Amino acid sequence: MSLYIDLKYIQMISFRLERYKRKDDYLFNFRCPICGDSAKKNKARGYLYKVKNDMFYKCHNCQAGKTFGGLLEIVDSLLHKEYVLERYSEGIAGNRANKTPEFQFEFKEPKARPKTLIDEMMDRLDGLPEEHEAVQYALKRMIPKEQFNRLYYLDDIRKASTLNSKYTKSLTTEQPRLVLPFVDEQGKLTGMAMRGMRGETLRYIMLKIDEDASTIFGLENMDRSKNVKVVEGPIDSLFIPNAIACAGSAFNRITELNLTDYTIVFDNQPRNSEIVRLVNKYINEGANVVIWPETVEAKDINDMVLQGLTPGEINSIIEKNTYTGLRAQMKLTIWRKC
Ligand SMILES: [Zn+2]
Repeated sequence: MSLYIDLKYIQMISFRLERYKRKDDYLFNFRCPICGDSAKKNKARGYLYKVKNDMFYKCHNCQAGKTFGGLLEIVDSLLHKEYVLERYSEGIAGNRANKTPEFQFEFKEPKARPKTLIDEMMDRLDGLPEEHEAVQYALKRMIPKEQFNRLYYLDDIRKASTLNSKYTKSLTTEQPRLVLPFVDEQGKLTGMAMRGMRGETLRYIMLKIDEDASTIFGLENMDRSKNVKVVEGPIDSLFIPNAIACAGSAFNRITELNLTDYTIVFDNQPRNSEIVRLVNKYINEGANVVIWPETVEAKDINDMVLQGLTPGEINSIIEKNTYTGLRAQMKLTIWRKC
């Protein structure tokens, strides 16, 4: 399983690579750390790509060609030692021929998320049997099966503290949870939401790996060139195309994303004064907001699905009930019950 080790170490050095971008499951692009990629700041001609079970590096500026290990040695020689040991312990010969295989430029649509740190700790739902508690939970909530590759099962929440030792004291009881990982636009795991499946009072437990990162779910799949729907619950976002979820109180971090086209879709809770206040705030900021019509009684998107609406029907309700400015203010006055 050397490929997994390569991907793990790519993630570990990703924040040190300028203009780093994950182009595909197995294709990474950034400014070449060997030649500096010329003086032009916008150039990024270094590529990591997959051949069989290994990652290789090629720079289209200085023509450097190396194994990923060779690149890692230049970027971080200490980390490279760990990498060599880890590969060795997995039974892979450390010294392989330095010849770089032919570079094949293939941009493919990512089919499934590549393996990350989280895959080592947890089971992804699309790999679990139908009768499994987490799969049953997801099916009961009518989460579309094609979204199962974004969901994980953690048998014991205490294990999550290995991602951030700050949580060791708060995660003390053994408890299985459904996990929704927060992955940023660069493909980095920044945190996760852990949803209780057995009626726990604390429905969501949020865990941050990167303290500064916002707890927004779905950034890795977001298409900025299209209208982005900003919903509250991570599970709700699984029913809506191009949706992100501001789990917890991350709504105030939306502006940091610099989205050009987005719609705020709050839960249908006209009696919740905090929600009413936020809807009002976004209207005043000129955002597109959804004001749910009276005919919708369910309090959130998942409840609408459970009450028999299809995701397609919900999407058309969202499209038809998106407002801005004065019209939004008018609709809010009718909708609010507090
Ligand atoms: Zn170069």
